[in-house]
Amino acid sequence: MSQDMSSFAGTDRYEIVVGLEVHAQMRTQSKIFCGCPTRFGAAANTQICPVCAAFPGVLPVLNREVVNMAIKTGLAIHGQVRLLSEFSRKNYFYPDLPAGYQISQYELPIVEHGHLLITPTADLPPKRIGITRIHIEVDAGKSMHEGIQGASWVDLNRTGTPLMEIVSEPDLRSALEAGEYLKKLRAIVRYLGVCDGNMEEGSFRCDANVSVRLRGESRLGTRCELKNLNSIRNVMRAIDYEAVRQIDLIESGERVIQESRLWNADLNSSRSMRGKEDAHDYRYFPEPDLPPLRISAARIESVAASMPELPDAKATRLQTEYQLSEYDAGVLTASQALADYFEAVARYTAELGHPNPKMAANWVIGELGGRLNKDNLEIQQSPISVQQLGKLVAMIQQGVISGKIAKEIFETLFTDGGDPQHIVEQKGLQQVTDSAAIEEAVEQVLATYPEDVAQYRAGKGKVLGFLVGQIMKATQGKANPALVNQLLRAKLDKRL
Ligand code: ADP
Ligand code: MG
Ligand code: ZN
Repeated sequence: MSQDMSSFAGTDRYEIVVGLEVHAQMRTQSKIFCGCPTRFGAAANTQICPVCAAFPGVLPVLNREVVNMAIKTGLAIHGQVRLLSEFSRKNYFYPDLPAGYQISQYELPIVEHGHLLITPTADLPPKRIGITRIHIEVDAGKSMHEGIQGASWVDLNRTGTPLMEIVSEPDLRSALEAGEYLKKLRAIVRYLGVCDGNMEEGSFRCDANVSVRLRGESRLGTRCELKNLNSIRNVMRAIDYEAVRQIDLIESGERVIQESRLWNADLNSSRSMRGKEDAHDYRYFPEPDLPPLRISAARIESVAASMPELPDAKATRLQTEYQLSEYDAGVLTASQALADYFEAVARYTAELGHPNPKMAANWVIGELGGRLNKDNLEIQQSPISVQQLGKLVAMIQQGVISGKIAKEIFETLFTDGGDPQHIVEQKGLQQVTDSAAIEEAVEQVLATYPEDVAQYRAGKGKVLGFLVGQIMKATQGKANPALVNQLLRAKLDKRL
């Protein structure tokens, strides 16, 4: 399917509608129905037992931790945890599914009626995205097509890994909103420690259901389900591609056919995979080998008590506790580790007697964030410790060094390490706050640039910036800029 610019011509008349299904692998030590480990990357078929391989006569035993993790997630998305839910069999044949059915939840899922808030546009209030349900189910194995000459084979290590399927309402209206929803959901499961959120490795998988309709139309259009989306970027690209494809079809008088489509990131396009099956195709029925799942109110309460502070609450607290902007608080709470790092720096500058949380936030987000990004590092891998950055910020706040010098020291710290205070002393980088020394530099510059001085006095205020720059240069950037400005103005004005 070609997508030239003409395809976008009628796009404005249409509205995109998206609902996302996320499969999150839960970070339990052992599998959902047996004691096998869930470790990723072990040699094929070494983490399996008769339950994993679906031998006749084996019985599943539900892992308590799986239920706790689903409850946690349900509470985090403001959902209702059902006191009674049940497991169902979803029947289908696939080589990586030895039982011939998947144990899932169908009519009575563990969590219903949730939502989360996204902020796709900074100047609009947050938007509420409904979450229809969360259900628990079991992962299948993997069909392998490499490694054995001329044959396909199956690795059952992944069989029995617990999954949560988190299904959104069709409330998303653009690729951007879908991306924000996924970032938020991923942050939440990571904060909770229930899933590592790694889309590339497939532990956080997303199918996107996309339809389009004319603006103002209340009925939903026919949707297609997009699969094989292994990054947020790909989800967003696939949604945009699909919307244009559907609009093209409708505009040329054809119909959208409900189907599953496979995204190809290399080709930047999708192709039809199979007609979309309906629920009745799976012949769901209650799982006879497991009793209904009963959860006591006391258990929900005790899980609630064990929950960490979540991104939204943390962002609100950072705003009030440290007087940060909503934007800064949002960036810093993208991961718990980043928020922790910032708070530790802010606290450390306070311990040193020179607190400035806003400045700490700027350094964590701007300088450090940018530098880590450049080297493809996470905050946990930062070569600059909380103490190093804290000292640096405190020294700026105290007036020992200028922001400009601090940036140079920052680079040294990042590549070679060291103690910021020692670096300043060794290299003699202390800010000059001695007015006599600065006055000397001011005199020199005024003597060197008489024409500019004359221009200033003739009313050209702009020249001031140039003169300040020259003085800073003469002092190797070490003069205190506020003092420079003050002394320079005094001298220029006095001689009038
Ligand atoms: P299934 O399990 O067969 O894929 P569901 O009814 O559970 O079907 O819906 C799955 C997802 O599709 C949900 O996230 C839902 O919001 C979304 N969805 C349903 N209808 C539409 C539509 N017309 N356009 C976009 N998304 C839709
Ligand atoms: Mg689906
Ligand atoms: Zn097993």
